[in-house]
Amino acid sequence: MRVLLVEDDQLLGDAIVSGLKTHMYSVDWLTDGERALSTLTNNQTDTFDVVILDLGLPKKSGLDVLKSMRSKGITVPVLILTARNNIQDKVTGLDQGADDYLTKPFDLSELCARLRSITRRGDSGHTTSKLVLGNVSIDQAAHKVFINDKQVEFSRREFTLLSKLIEQTGKVVTREMLSQALYGWGDDVDSNAIEVHIHHIRKKIANAISIKTIRGVGYIAESE
Ligand code: CA
Repeated sequence: MRVLLVEDDQLLGDAIVSGLKTHMYSVDWLTDGERALSTLTNNQTDTFDVVILDLGLPKKSGLDVLKSMRSKGITVPVLILTARNNIQDKVTGLDQGADDYLTKPFDLSELCARLRSITRRGDSGHTTSKLVLGNVSIDQAAHKVFINDKQVEFSRREFTLLSKLIEQTGKVVTREMLSQALYGWGDDVDSNAIEVHIHHIRKKIANAISIKTIRGVGYIAESE
Protein backbone atom coordinates (compact mmCIF):
# COMPACT_ATOMS: atom_id res chain seq x y z
CA MET A 1 0.00 0.00 0.00
CA ARG A 2 1.44 3.36 -0.99
CA VAL A 3 0.84 6.38 1.24
CA LEU A 4 1.35 10.08 0.58
CA LEU A 5 2.13 11.85 3.86
CA VAL A 6 1.82 15.64 3.91
CA GLU A 7 3.21 16.93 7.21
CA ASP A 8 5.54 19.87 7.88
CA ASP A 9 6.64 18.79 11.37
CA GLN A 10 9.99 17.03 10.86
CA LEU A 11 9.93 14.96 14.04
CA LEU A 12 6.38 13.77 13.57
CA GLY A 13 6.93 13.16 9.85
CA ASP A 14 10.03 11.07 10.54
CA ALA A 15 8.18 9.05 13.15
CA ILE A 16 5.20 8.39 10.87
CA VAL A 17 7.39 7.43 7.90
CA SER A 18 9.53 4.97 9.84
CA GLY A 19 6.52 3.61 11.73
CA LEU A 20 4.51 2.99 8.57
CA LYS A 21 7.49 1.40 6.82
CA THR A 22 7.76 -1.20 9.55
CA HIS A 23 4.08 -1.96 8.87
CA MET A 24 4.84 -2.65 5.18
CA TYR A 25 3.57 0.63 3.83
CA SER A 26 5.51 2.47 1.18
CA VAL A 27 5.52 6.18 2.09
CA ASP A 28 6.23 9.39 0.19
CA TRP A 29 6.54 12.48 2.35
CA LEU A 30 5.91 16.09 1.37
CA THR A 31 6.09 19.08 3.68
CA ASP A 32 3.96 21.77 2.04
CA GLY A 33 0.46 22.10 0.65
CA GLU A 34 1.35 23.42 -2.80
CA ARG A 35 3.65 20.54 -3.57
CA ALA A 36 1.04 18.10 -2.26
CA LEU A 37 -1.65 19.46 -4.54
CA SER A 38 0.57 19.50 -7.63
CA THR A 39 1.74 15.95 -6.91
CA LEU A 40 -1.80 14.66 -6.53
CA THR A 41 -2.95 16.57 -9.61
CA ASN A 42 -0.13 15.23 -11.77
CA ASN A 43 -0.60 11.61 -10.74
CA GLN A 44 -3.37 10.30 -12.92
CA THR A 45 -2.43 6.69 -12.42
CA ASP A 46 -3.78 6.08 -8.91
CA THR A 47 -0.27 6.09 -7.53
CA PHE A 48 -1.39 6.56 -3.96
CA ASP A 49 -3.80 4.38 -2.03
CA VAL A 50 -4.31 6.93 0.73
CA VAL A 51 -3.23 10.46 1.71
CA ILE A 52 -2.42 11.51 5.28
CA LEU A 53 -2.92 15.25 5.32
CA ASP A 54 -1.91 17.67 8.07
CA LEU A 55 -4.14 20.76 8.24
CA GLY A 56 -1.61 23.39 9.32
CA LEU A 57 0.80 23.42 6.36
CA PRO A 58 3.05 26.03 4.72
CA LYS A 59 2.07 27.57 1.36
CA LYS A 60 -1.41 26.04 1.23
CA SER A 61 -3.48 24.77 4.13
CA GLY A 62 -4.55 21.15 4.33
CA LEU A 63 -8.20 22.19 3.97
CA ASP A 64 -7.40 24.11 0.77
CA VAL A 65 -5.50 21.13 -0.62
CA LEU A 66 -8.43 18.88 0.18
CA LYS A 67 -10.97 21.25 -1.35
CA SER A 68 -8.96 21.68 -4.55
CA MET A 69 -8.23 17.99 -5.03
CA ARG A 70 -11.86 16.99 -4.54
CA SER A 71 -13.00 19.72 -6.95
CA LYS A 72 -10.61 18.24 -9.53
CA GLY A 73 -12.22 14.85 -9.06
CA ILE A 74 -9.29 13.23 -7.22
CA THR A 75 -10.97 10.57 -5.12
CA VAL A 76 -8.06 8.98 -3.21
CA PRO A 77 -9.06 8.47 0.44
CA VAL A 78 -7.80 11.20 2.79
CA LEU A 79 -7.11 11.00 6.52
CA ILE A 80 -6.63 14.44 8.05
CA LEU A 81 -4.30 15.07 10.97
CA THR A 82 -4.97 17.96 13.24
CA ALA A 83 -3.15 19.25 16.27
CA ARG A 84 -6.06 21.48 17.02
CA ASN A 85 -8.64 19.70 19.04
CA ASN A 86 -11.19 21.75 17.26
CA ILE A 87 -14.57 20.30 16.32
CA GLN A 88 -15.02 22.88 13.58
CA ASP A 89 -11.83 21.81 11.76
CA LYS A 90 -12.94 18.21 11.76
CA VAL A 91 -16.43 19.04 10.57
CA THR A 92 -15.07 21.27 7.80
CA GLY A 93 -12.56 18.61 6.78
CA LEU A 94 -15.18 15.89 6.60
CA ASP A 95 -17.54 18.22 4.73
CA GLN A 96 -14.84 18.88 2.18
CA GLY A 97 -14.31 15.24 1.45
CA ALA A 98 -11.93 13.84 4.06
CA ASP A 99 -12.65 10.21 4.89
CA ASP A 100 -11.54 10.32 8.51
CA TYR A 101 -9.46 12.39 10.92
CA LEU A 102 -6.99 11.83 13.72
CA THR A 103 -6.09 14.32 16.45
CA LYS A 104 -2.42 14.64 17.42
CA PRO A 105 -0.89 13.10 19.40
CA PHE A 106 -1.90 9.61 18.31
CA ASP A 107 -0.54 6.07 18.46
CA LEU A 108 0.93 4.44 15.40
CA SER A 109 -1.40 1.49 15.92
CA GLU A 110 -4.39 3.81 15.75
CA LEU A 111 -3.08 5.44 12.59
CA CYS A 112 -2.64 2.02 10.96
CA ALA A 113 -6.13 0.95 11.98
CA ARG A 114 -7.65 4.12 10.48
CA LEU A 115 -5.68 3.66 7.25
CA ARG A 116 -6.89 0.08 6.91
CA SER A 117 -10.44 1.13 7.56
CA ILE A 118 -10.58 4.00 5.06
CA THR A 119 -8.81 2.11 2.29
CA ARG A 120 -11.23 -0.78 2.71
CA ARG A 121 -14.20 1.47 2.20
CA GLY A 122 -12.51 3.45 -0.61
CA ASP A 123 -14.95 4.68 -3.24
CA SER A 124 -12.68 3.78 -6.12
CA GLY A 125 -13.32 0.13 -5.37
CA HIS A 126 -9.84 -0.97 -6.45
CA THR A 127 -8.56 -1.42 -2.94
CA THR A 128 -10.03 -4.52 -1.39
CA SER A 129 -8.81 -6.13 1.76
CA LYS A 130 -8.49 -9.54 0.15
CA LEU A 131 -6.91 -10.44 -3.19
CA VAL A 132 -7.14 -13.94 -4.59
CA LEU A 133 -5.58 -15.58 -7.62
CA GLY A 134 -5.50 -19.35 -8.02
CA ASN A 135 -4.26 -20.83 -4.75
CA VAL A 136 -2.68 -17.57 -3.62
CA SER A 137 -4.60 -15.22 -1.38
CA ILE A 138 -3.45 -11.96 0.13
CA ASP A 139 -4.96 -10.45 3.23
CA GLN A 140 -4.06 -6.82 2.70
CA ALA A 141 -5.33 -5.66 6.07
CA ALA A 142 -3.18 -8.15 7.95
CA HIS A 143 -0.31 -8.08 5.41
CA LYS A 144 -0.32 -11.85 5.10
CA VAL A 145 0.07 -14.11 2.10
CA PHE A 146 -1.43 -17.59 1.99
CA ILE A 147 -0.41 -20.22 -0.54
CA ASN A 148 -2.57 -23.33 -0.60
CA ASP A 149 -4.04 -22.07 2.69
CA LYS A 150 -0.65 -21.95 4.38
CA GLN A 151 0.87 -18.64 5.43
CA VAL A 152 4.17 -17.84 3.71
CA GLU A 153 6.49 -15.02 4.78
CA PHE A 154 7.00 -12.22 2.27
CA SER A 155 9.20 -9.15 2.73
CA ARG A 156 7.55 -5.74 2.55
CA ARG A 157 8.69 -5.23 -1.04
CA GLU A 158 7.78 -8.73 -2.19
CA PHE A 159 4.37 -8.26 -0.61
CA THR A 160 3.84 -4.96 -2.44
CA LEU A 161 4.91 -6.39 -5.80
CA LEU A 162 2.80 -9.51 -5.49
CA SER A 163 -0.26 -7.44 -4.48
CA LYS A 164 0.22 -5.14 -7.46
CA LEU A 165 0.50 -8.07 -9.86
CA ILE A 166 -2.55 -9.84 -8.48
CA GLU A 167 -4.61 -6.63 -8.46
CA GLN A 168 -3.97 -6.47 -12.21
CA THR A 169 -4.37 -10.20 -12.93
CA GLY A 170 -4.18 -10.96 -16.63
CA LYS A 171 -2.84 -7.51 -17.47
CA VAL A 172 0.74 -6.48 -18.02
CA VAL A 173 2.15 -4.54 -15.09
CA THR A 174 5.06 -2.45 -16.32
CA ARG A 175 8.36 -2.21 -14.49
CA GLU A 176 7.65 1.47 -14.07
CA MET A 177 4.37 0.76 -12.26
CA LEU A 178 6.13 -1.73 -10.03
CA SER A 179 8.95 0.60 -9.09
CA GLN A 180 6.42 3.35 -8.39
CA ALA A 181 4.59 1.03 -6.05
CA LEU A 182 7.83 0.02 -4.36
CA TYR A 183 9.88 3.08 -3.88
CA GLY A 184 9.30 6.41 -2.27
CA TRP A 185 11.07 9.33 -3.88
CA GLY A 186 13.78 9.29 -1.27
CA ASP A 187 14.81 5.71 -1.98
CA ASP A 188 17.51 4.62 -4.39
CA VAL A 189 16.15 2.52 -7.19
CA ASP A 190 18.41 -0.36 -8.13
CA SER A 191 17.62 -1.36 -11.70
CA ASN A 192 17.97 -5.06 -10.91
CA ALA A 193 15.94 -4.93 -7.74
CA ILE A 194 12.59 -5.71 -9.35
CA GLU A 195 13.99 -8.80 -11.10
CA VAL A 196 15.52 -10.00 -7.86
CA HIS A 197 12.25 -9.56 -5.95
CA ILE A 198 10.28 -11.30 -8.70
CA HIS A 199 12.76 -14.17 -8.63
CA HIS A 200 12.17 -14.60 -4.88
CA ILE A 201 8.41 -14.29 -5.27
CA ARG A 202 8.38 -16.99 -7.96
CA LYS A 203 10.26 -19.33 -5.64
CA LYS A 204 7.78 -18.72 -2.83
CA ILE A 205 4.64 -19.10 -4.91
CA ALA A 206 6.08 -22.20 -6.63
CA ASN A 207 3.42 -23.34 -9.08
CA ALA A 208 0.42 -21.84 -7.31
CA ILE A 209 0.21 -19.08 -9.94
CA SER A 210 2.48 -17.99 -12.75
CA ILE A 211 4.25 -14.68 -13.15
CA LYS A 212 5.36 -14.32 -16.74
CA THR A 213 8.02 -11.94 -17.93
CA ILE A 214 7.04 -9.72 -20.84
CA ARG A 215 10.48 -8.90 -22.14
CA GLY A 216 11.35 -5.23 -22.01
CA VAL A 217 7.94 -4.29 -20.59
CA GLY A 218 7.05 -5.92 -17.32
CA TYR A 219 5.21 -8.87 -15.82
CA ILE A 220 1.82 -10.50 -15.89
CA ALA A 221 0.27 -12.72 -13.21
CA GLU A 222 -2.00 -15.58 -14.25
CA SER A 223 -3.53 -18.58 -12.57
CA GLU A 224 -1.94 -21.84 -13.70
CA1 CA B 1 1.62 21.37 10.70
